[in-house]
Amino acid sequence: MNYSISDIREIKQYAIDNNIPIMQDEGIEFLTNFIIKKQSKNILEIGTAIGYSAIMMCLTGDDVHVTTIERDEVRYMEALKNIKKLNLEDRITLIFNDALNVNLDDTYDLIFIDAAKGKNQEFFEHFETNLTGDGYILTDNMYFHGYVEMNEEELPSKNIAGIVRKIKEYTYFLENHMQYKTTIYRVGDGVAVTERRG
Ligand code: SAH
Ligand code: MG
Repeated sequence: MNYSISDIREIKQYAIDNNIPIMQDEGIEFLTNFIIKKQSKNILEIGTAIGYSAIMMCLTGDDVHVTTIERDEVRYMEALKNIKKLNLEDRITLIFNDALNVNLDDTYDLIFIDAAKGKNQEFFEHFETNLTGDGYILTDNMYFHGYVEMNEEELPSKNIAGIVRKIKEYTYFLENHMQYKTTIYRVGDGVAVTERRG
């Protein structure tokens, strides 16, 4: 493939230097292996940040296309730059907007939710009509840096407690959904894999 490992390393370093919460190696490995195993070709991502996970997903195969949405302008600009640097402009469609304002006509065989952690259910319900019949919705950060498994009084702030509550509600929503079944994997920061019931 036509990219250099040092470009990827630079993107990861930028994320560290600028405190951008990109997927860690274990999570990205799980995600890319999942895409290869399921042969997902048309992917939608909510939460681009600087394009790291979009690029890694795209690099799983020459025929993979990723549409990815980011609402922060600085990160969007950086993602644009990174996607150009890797010559992936024609395989990654980058949308600058709040995902909840974006309406798409296309269907995707994998939807990856990795944006505002308190809004997972809203993203899910907004985009589920864009999922193919046998597609998968993956949601990152289901353990939210371990906070989800702590007692409420151990949490460092009200803000974090609020997000934890939302993630727990989302977990309940997924696990009790009539149309979908979900498995939450203990990899990286916790990845939920959801598919339609057969
Ligand atoms: N998937 C990326 C990391 C994403 S970090 C990677 O692993 O490389 C989460 C991003 O989601 C942030 O950049 C944040 O600005 C963005 N975000 C949060 N809420 C959003 C929304 N409603 N619409 C679009 N982007 C959103
Ligand atoms: Mg994440």
